[in-house]
Amino acid sequence: MSPINKVFDYIVIGGGSGGLASARRAASYGAKVALIESSGRLGGTCVNVGCVPKKVMFNAAGIRAAIEDSKHYGFSTEYKGFNWGILKKSRDEYIKRLNGIYENNLKKDNVTYISGFGKLAGGNKVKVISADKNEEIYEAKKILIAVGGKPTVPKISGAEYGITSDEFFELETQPKKVAIVGSGYIGVELAGVFRELGSEVVLLTRTDTILRHHDEIIGSTMMEEMTRIGIKFAINTRVMEVEKNQGAENSLPYKLKWKVVPPTAEDALDGASVQEGAAAASGVEIASDDFDCIIWAVGRESKIKNLGLDEAGVKVDRKNLIIADEYQYTGVEGIFALGDVCGKLELTPVAIAAGRRLSDRLFGGPQYVNSKLEYELVPTVIFGVLPAGTNGLTEREAIKKYGKDKIKTYVTRFSNMYNAMLPYKPPTAMKLVVLLPTEQVVGLHIIGRGCDEMLQGFGVAMKMGATKKDFDNCVAIHPTSSEELVTLR
Ligand SMILES: Cc1cc2nc3c(=O)[nH]c(=O)nc-3n(C[C@H](O)[C@H](O)[C@H](O)COP(=O)(O)OP(=O)(O)OC[C@H]3O[C@@H](n4cnc5c(N)ncnc54)[C@H](O)[C@@H]3O)c2cc1C
Repeated sequence: MSPINKVFDYIVIGGGSGGLASARRAASYGAKVALIESSGRLGGTCVNVGCVPKKVMFNAAGIRAAIEDSKHYGFSTEYKGFNWGILKKSRDEYIKRLNGIYENNLKKDNVTYISGFGKLAGGNKVKVISADKNEEIYEAKKILIAVGGKPTVPKISGAEYGITSDEFFELETQPKKVAIVGSGYIGVELAGVFRELGSEVVLLTRTDTILRHHDEIIGSTMMEEMTRIGIKFAINTRVMEVEKNQGAENSLPYKLKWKVVPPTAEDALDGASVQEGAAAASGVEIASDDFDCIIWAVGRESKIKNLGLDEAGVKVDRKNLIIADEYQYTGVEGIFALGDVCGKLELTPVAIAAGRRLSDRLFGGPQYVNSKLEYELVPTVIFGVLPAGTNGLTEREAIKKYGKDKIKTYVTRFSNMYNAMLPYKPPTAMKLVVLLPTEQVVGLHIIGRGCDEMLQGFGVAMKMGATKKDFDNCVAIHPTSSEELVTLR
């Protein structure tokens, strides 16, 4: 048996959003902390293959759109093309700088950084397997699992010809024609980036809508604008296979085949129209198209393989997400889990907040004895062709929770003043979902120019229990889009 050669108060497995935040907070209370990271670079999904490089691409897409708009504001700018390689190089350098900053932060905070694959090794022990297969055992009374997740690849023939969001960030050149399979926020965001930067894009969706876990107003408005800028939709689809194209020199290399199957009741949440029994109907149509890039954006799964969960007695649910209670406790003495590996609101600030609250409780002293993250009213943004913000319950969820007679909505749709000079008018749409009789705002859904930066403040108000009357009592800021939210009738 390997000797126990390192003893800590707290061992964190996973150097992503949640793990880093929790490790540093614990160390700030004087705990002896080790953080284990297997990928060789700190920051996790968000920094390396998620929020951060994605936002750089969203910004680039916005610049492309602004160049187009600028003509109508009297500028003589001509769009002369875009160099994907230059942007990728600068973006990679930026991410590398961030990786370094994270490593320095750990040093500054006296967190021991251990590079290697961590797994539970029974009791208080964690085994770390380094890149050269060296194994070491570490020990701590408290262990955090924050290993995150990875994109799911569908189990179809030829799936290996497609890539995921991870490899999107490795693309050295811009594809000409892209299929995005999946209409959640990642698929929608990548579709917008590709299209604005000049690729042809077909987005395949299981239902006849997109972003179906969000309020209907978000998906329908986003789809309308995506269509306007030339994104094609293949709706009600089930992908079947990918084949490599042989023959003609200039043909696109991959053929994606799919079935057209109307959504089932299970598929249809907000907005998807369901044709009863249609899935079973005869005459299912088969379609195909050629692409030089196929992106699987069909969901994510937790990274629990070889973590030693079974041996340690840590339970997972039927989706392989680690089961942890509201205090991030797995039910196994000394073992906690949080972030994407638990799958409850897969967002960076959620993992960070859960990580910090956990360390406050474990190491911060008696005033933090009840410290835990509230998972309700978490604002989030979709960086699509129109930025969209959403907080709280969708209209459908609110009706389900409180009953139709208890819910009222306020809805508006208009064109941002920015568009006054443009021949095209991208929409802005907003919905407040309020609970009667107090009219407390329990859902807020906004989409359009500026909505990404608008949401945070309204998030504070909602967390404080603001009612429609409180919104109305706040004097509008003119001329902005956000003023519409405090003048809704
Ligand atoms: C394309 C994309 C865009 C996104 N955009 C946004 C956004 O705009 N806003 C937002 O809030 N969220 C966004 N997210 C989600 C966000 O990135 C995640 O919710 C967040 O990173 C989860 O943090 P985490 O700590 O749970 O896991 P991660 O950040 O994934 O960190 C887990 C870390 O653990 C490491 N690891 C795994 N197994 C082991 C092991 N056995 N031993 C040691 N280390 C291990 C991994 O290498 C990784 O570094 C996006 C995600 C994607 C994929």
